[in-house]
Amino acid sequence: MKSPCPACKISFNSLSAFDAHRIGTHGVDRHCMTIKEMRAIGMTTNRLGNWVREIATQENAESAFKGRGVRKYPARTARRQRAG
Ligand SMILES: [Zn+2]
Repeated sequence: MKSPCPACKISFNSLSAFDAHRIGTHGVDRHCMTIKEMRAIGMTTNRLGNWVREIATQENAESAFKGRGVRKYPARTARRQRAG
């Protein structure tokens, strides 16, 4: 999600994180959580300063791994049958 929330101007890493900060009922008392409230439900900011939900989605996990340059374990193509 590239654009910040139009109401509170906070940037979110994903639509799900954005949705999580919008509470209340549509047309009644729909509003944004405060930062204190977001932290209270386990939300935090990523290294880019965008808010994320604590429960990492697949999308978040993949982008985080790419950023850290984590490699996959090499496949075992050669297996030694004999010891010594
Ligand atoms: Zn907002």
